Amino acid sequence: MDCLFCKIAAKEIPAKIVHEDEELVAFEDISPQAPVHILVIPRQHISRLNDLQPEHDELVGKIIRLAKKLAKERDIDQAGYRVVMNCNEQAGQSVFHIHLHLLGGRAMQWPPG
Ligand code: AMP
Ligand code: ZN
Repeated sequence: MDCLFCKIAAKEIPAKIVHEDEELVAFEDISPQAPVHILVIPRQHISRLNDLQPEHDELVGKIIRLAKKLAKERDIDQAGYRVVMNCNEQAGQSVFHIHLHLLGGRAMQWPPG
């Protein structure tokens, strides 16, 4: 499949991988928007949040709990951090393989732009 994040998960395209297991891969965002900016993806190709099904519930839980673990490892868990999943163009989704952004290390604005 011609998908950038599938290729990163398969190590066909290099990335700074910070975690990998049977189901998930986490890597540094190539264009970081905060001192900590990590993307967490499932190895399974799911194009967008709209495609999630009940069978994905456990996987989604694991994605969020990995973000929590990485936040602690990067020592941003107490100060605070943000997780973002963009769905489709108007939200700014540019890679159509679901991914969670873990952002931290600076104060965040609300509402997001
Ligand atoms: P989104 O706009 O929510 O779809 O997020 C896609 C993210 O992927 C952006 O933050 C990009 O900076 C990031 N990105 C794009 N290409 C790469 C790459 N080759 N390695 C790491 N991150 C990437
Ligand atoms: Zn993919």
